[in-house]
Amino acid sequence: MFIDTHAHLDFEDFNKDRDEIISRAATAGVGKIINVGANMAGSRASVDLAASYGSIYATVGIHPHDAQEATEENISEMSEMLKDGRVVAVGEIGLDYFKSKTSPALQKEAFVRQLNLARDHDLPVIIHTRDAEDDVMDILHRFKDLRAVIHFFSGSPEFALNAIESGLYVSFTGVITFKPRASGAGSGARYDHLREQIVNSIPIDRLMIETDCPFAAPTPYRGWRNEPAFVVEIARKLAEYRGVSLDVIEEATTANAEKFFNL
Ligand SMILES: [Zn+2]
Repeated sequence: MFIDTHAHLDFEDFNKDRDEIISRAATAGVGKIINVGANMAGSRASVDLAASYGSIYATVGIHPHDAQEATEENISEMSEMLKDGRVVAVGEIGLDYFKSKTSPALQKEAFVRQLNLARDHDLPVIIHTRDAEDDVMDILHRFKDLRAVIHFFSGSPEFALNAIESGLYVSFTGVITFKPRASGAGSGARYDHLREQIVNSIPIDRLMIETDCPFAAPTPYRGWRNEPAFVVEIARKLAEYRGVSLDVIEEATTANAEKFFNL
């Protein structure tokens, strides 16, 4: 069994065929799906999905783009939601300085509030970071007691090493399946370095896989709407890069996800 550790099945992209998508995942061997909240509405919808489908678990969180939502009132509503046994983490939370609509100061405040929330509920956290690695690590060092995963890992080899040394998990998406660009240009170019890094630097007991659907569909579905069934393609690519069988990746990433989210 595979686990998709980061999906957004609450998005309206799935309104027409959500049931089908969820049964297609099961048919593909994806037995568990972590549906991730990215704002208050998404967090509520995520909790509802987990109540309706046996294979779905929810997380509750406010993405840095919506940092202004992390008010005291909303944090206490989140705290209530976190008491639900099918809510397994706080996320996605973090910092995003790439084309960000909210100020770094506001993002940091929302991030810290939600890390405290995770600590209060003894739950792991799903971290979103873009162009903000130093600040994310500075803040996470104050929360060493929390289990944390860097979702949609696309950082430098140095950041990967730093994350591993700090005890974090690393989760890869479909972008690791994209073909390298010979010219160094084009939309896939910023992911080219991931190849070597995957092979060399992430211990197998810290590795997780995710679709982040509807975004970032792996090859051979690149450009399509992504869905949890496609997480198998990410596992297949990891197996190829690391020179191990698909079974080895399946077993390891599933065991890691079950341990991390306490499923
Ligand atoms: Zn996401």
